[in-house]
Amino acid sequence: MFISTRGNSKAVHASEAIMRGMVPEGGLYLPEQFPTIALADFESHLDDSYQDLAKWILGLLLDDFTEEEVAACVEAAYNEENFEHPSVTPLVKLTEGSYVLELWHGPTAAFKDLALQIMPHLLVTALRKNNCQKDVVILVATSGDTGKAALEGFKNVPGTQVVVFYPDQGVSPMQELQMTTTEGNNTHVVAVKGNFDDCQSAVKELFADQDMIQKLDQAGYQFSSANSINWGRLSPQVVYYVAAYLNLVRREQIQLGDPVDFSVPTGNFGNILAAYMAKEMGLPIGRLICASNENNVLTDFFNTGTYNANRPFYRTISPSMDILISSNLERYLYLKTGGDGEQISQWMQDLKATGTFTIPQALQEAMAEDILAADADAETAKEVIARVFEDSRYLLDPHTAVAVSAAAKADHLVVVDATANPFKFVQAVSEALAPDKDVSEANVLDLMKELSEVTNTPVHRALAKLSQSGERPHPVIEIAEIRDTLMDLLPKA
Ligand SMILES: *Cc1c(COP(=O)(O)O)cnc(C)c1O
Repeated sequence: MFISTRGNSKAVHASEAIMRGMVPEGGLYLPEQFPTIALADFESHLDDSYQDLAKWILGLLLDDFTEEEVAACVEAAYNEENFEHPSVTPLVKLTEGSYVLELWHGPTAAFKDLALQIMPHLLVTALRKNNCQKDVVILVATSGDTGKAALEGFKNVPGTQVVVFYPDQGVSPMQELQMTTTEGNNTHVVAVKGNFDDCQSAVKELFADQDMIQKLDQAGYQFSSANSINWGRLSPQVVYYVAAYLNLVRREQIQLGDPVDFSVPTGNFGNILAAYMAKEMGLPIGRLICASNENNVLTDFFNTGTYNANRPFYRTISPSMDILISSNLERYLYLKTGGDGEQISQWMQDLKATGTFTIPQALQEAMAEDILAADADAETAKEVIARVFEDSRYLLDPHTAVAVSAAAKADHLVVVDATANPFKFVQAVSEALAPDKDVSEANVLDLMKELSEVTNTPVHRALAKLSQSGERPHPVIEIAEIRDTLMDLLPKA
């Protein structure tokens, strides 16, 4: 069963937690007790495919899903059409003692695919298990990456419609092209005149609009979200930590039981939390390194015990880490306080009211046993990209480069999560390799071709097929038109 991090709600099964997204009273769902895995069990899964590992681990983390239900979701998500690499998340040796876990082989070239390719199937399964026969309408406000990953995840999934709102002129040319070229009979993209916050507020209002909810209900629809705090997005991320560890054992780089560190480019704290959950379940993880860019609120938190979101917000070359409120940190705090929901409620209230909260020193010290934090600015990230290419002929994207820099803190063999393919951030990567060149006005498709030639690295297949001619018409609207636009887009409304 799943309980609330704020101790304020009744326990529910996984399917209900996924259906609801977050605890209605406020708070996030966590298993009442984590399943544990003995070393001998890991050993017996040493030769499993990624799909088989996913069936095993998700079977443990989704208490009321049947074996058949989990298997169907896994097979619909992690197949060759969606992930062209046979091991789904290949592990590449960078130097002696350091590896890169490539989490970008999915359809949008970023790690969110690992969660968002399976989450729609988990959600539809959860709804049907709870006797809801309505079609789900997924609304997403995006500043770029999540929108495309949600579109690809929900594309052509029966019983779903996905509508993505993005700020007109507020996303990168690559991100816009990725979204507006999405295929599928249930995918909708809308550019909203305003910034990301306007977009996000408008979508939040839609979720709360009772009149709208009633109209949609009559038409056979119900709202849901694909938010990164949903258990259906978090739990699939545990799988690749197990896969990476077992891969190292198979390659005789470690012996089963040896500690391995992971360095994780962090924004909303979901990916690194999944690693911590793997550790709680018994995977021999040494330390986790929480890597941040100029928005280094987490580095300061782990180093001082004070979380302080009252600081300038920077737009960086690693935009998916540009976050000042890391939602999933709440789950880690809950686990580290031994489940003190009242204390978590208090801190979250403080954070909301004042932008800051402070934890006791003893807790800060206990956290340092699991997590070390480090940050790297754009200049450092670009230097890392240039140096690693020079030394290893391996191209990093700016998010991964931040984590490679932070990995200097590791005590053991270290695996760096590569969260995006370098061609997805072609501008920053090109600048890193040729600092004197001005690429600000260059066409991204031309830049990709050039970077590929210069570095002798193939363009990611999902990006290679992008072309301006594949753009589908999409509405560009004023914020006030968002409600009517949504009604127009939904076929039954
Ligand atoms: C979302 C994202 C991150 C941050 O992951 P969190 O789970 O939010 O911490 C890092 N890198 C890339 C490329 C991402 O898309």
